[in-house]
Amino acid sequence: MDFATIHWSATCDACGAAQHRSGTQAVVEDRLRWDEEHVCSGCGSTALVCGDTLPDRLRTRMLAEHGAARLVLSDLPARRLPILRVLRNDGGRTLPEARALLELILGGGHHGTGPEIELLARRLRAVGVAAETVRAPGTLGGS
Ligand SMILES: [Zn+2]
Repeated sequence: MDFATIHWSATCDACGAAQHRSGTQAVVEDRLRWDEEHVCSGCGSTALVCGDTLPDRLRTRMLAEHGAARLVLSDLPARRLPILRVLRNDGGRTLPEARALLELILGGGHHGTGPEIELLARRLRAVGVAAETVRAPGTLGGS
């Protein structure tokens, strides 16, 4: 689950023709990256945009198409400190925020896109915590 791609149709801003669009989110060298590509069959215009934080409109589409992922930790509660350290470094959380997130993870309530959760799982594995990305129950299948 280190990358996920979505496809959809939209109307070309330039000529009004139906346009094929695709977007990808991926874990690239310990960071999240995304890109979006448009190719218009009508006027041939193309666009490629990319960035690090997935825009909400793409994130919503990605969660709808691929379902949410969830983080599973298998060796708790012995190793909370390294986990809290990773959670603090991830997105600059405060310690109370990291604690709250850990509780959410332990309760199975922390959901995200596959690549988002996979990046967190990788960072946790890097400090020796057995972390795994699984598909969240109650979301769509497929991959
Ligand atoms: Zn066009």
